[in-house]
Amino acid sequence: MFKGFTRLLHSPGEHLKSLLDSPESAADALSPRIIPRSEHPVSRQQISEAALKVLYRLNGAGFDAFLVGGCIRDALLGKMPKDFDVATNATPEQVRDLFRNSRLIGRRFRIVHVRFGREVIEVTTFRGKPQDEHGDHIAQQSDDGLLLRDNVWGNIEEDALRRDFTVNALYYNIADFTIHDFANGARDIESRTLRLIGDPVTRYREDPVRMLRAVRFAAKLDFTIEPATEEPMYDLAPLLLQIPPARLFDEVLKLFMSGHGLITFRLLSHYNLFGMLFPEAEEAMADAAWAEDLIEQALTNTDKRIAEGRPVTPAFLLAAFLWAPVAHRQAELEREGMPAIPALQTAAQQVVTRQLQHISIPKRFGMPMRDIWELQARLPLRRGKRAFQTREHPRFRAAYDLLLLREQAGEIPRGLGDWWNAFQQGDEHEQLRLLQKVGSDPASQGDRRRKKRRKPRKTEQ
Ligand code: ATP
Ligand code: MG
Repeated sequence: MFKGFTRLLHSPGEHLKSLLDSPESAADALSPRIIPRSEHPVSRQQISEAALKVLYRLNGAGFDAFLVGGCIRDALLGKMPKDFDVATNATPEQVRDLFRNSRLIGRRFRIVHVRFGREVIEVTTFRGKPQDEHGDHIAQQSDDGLLLRDNVWGNIEEDALRRDFTVNALYYNIADFTIHDFANGARDIESRTLRLIGDPVTRYREDPVRMLRAVRFAAKLDFTIEPATEEPMYDLAPLLLQIPPARLFDEVLKLFMSGHGLITFRLLSHYNLFGMLFPEAEEAMADAAWAEDLIEQALTNTDKRIAEGRPVTPAFLLAAFLWAPVAHRQAELEREGMPAIPALQTAAQQVVTRQLQHISIPKRFGMPMRDIWELQARLPLRRGKRAFQTREHPRFRAAYDLLLLREQAGEIPRGLGDWWNAFQQGDEHEQLRLLQKVGSDPASQGDRRRKKRRKPRKTEQ
């Protein structure tokens, strides 16, 4: 199926040859290399019904309509595209008028969402250059080059050069099924290279999230980030601090919930990017070796679950990322005399407050994340009805999983995890036996006994 495409790339035509001779000229390519249908493997069978409908209707109304971005990149790599982005010369209003099931969204980037059941097709109008030929800003930029708004319409060539990576700037034309390649993306797909279009420093300054995207695609596609694209990241990583926390949350989900979390984490750490997202976790990792092991193990498990098609929740992953700073702060507060559970709650509050300055965490994930932490203080307390109550907690399973990770990473000695494992599996009889065994263990007594011990101390002070 891919033969034609591969053959074509191994025997490039004149146009491609000239670009290959001067790789730096990717961004200056003016006319596209047009790959006919017979020479590329992208077929309509790889494209969803919904995306085809959008493309045909736009085309039927006299507009240009292309599929672009990740779907074409993934299709060329032989992967099933997961969502479809359409680029057109119709304005957002014209698109909206063509589709009853559509909605205009976004301020920074105005786009149209066309909805078919659960599937959403994103339609964007070709964007022009952020600057005109006199260097005057047309799109809104901040003093340090950050693009604030980018709603200047342009033609397809300009649109291509506004995209991030060469492999994301391949356009599939529904009118004749050709692929238009403006930035040598086909060559970079063939050599599995991630290359920013244009001057990397300028492109990262315009939008620092491109650094995260570079890492995400390198991890997901197993691509190499070429040197000029890679080199500025180490220094420019702090630009991520300018990005609104809500946008970073979306990126964090994509980074860690796409099945390649472990390699993504290692790459982020390598380029100094992880600390810009989770500064407290980064500090905790410098303090204690187990903190990094715990994160790596959490990501390994998450990747495995995704590969097996089992559900994963960001709440658990966030709980694991931020556990070391929470535990660290909890220990400090306990040393100051606060009992374990309030110390944990206070520590959680402080760590979350600081984290939210970087990445927003919606309540639907923040609440379970705190529950998972709080249960870490309850899991050792098993006497009387406690073990049964804890077992019934809706977050028990996730909390137990975190407990296992803590033991595995060497934060705490092994043992409690085994006990809970046996307790979950055992029948009533076995559970009673396990509870009796716990009776003699002082760590299982709970805070009531601790309070009693503490009272006389308080009056002494
Ligand atoms: P995937 O959907 O697999 O995560 P994608 O490449 O399709 O990858 P999207 O976020 O869906 O990523 O974006 C669609 C396309 O829009 C990209 O392929 C790229 O051409 C363009 N794009 C997205 N984000 C940026 C950005 N920050 N800067 C420049 N172009 C971008
Ligand atoms: Mg996409």
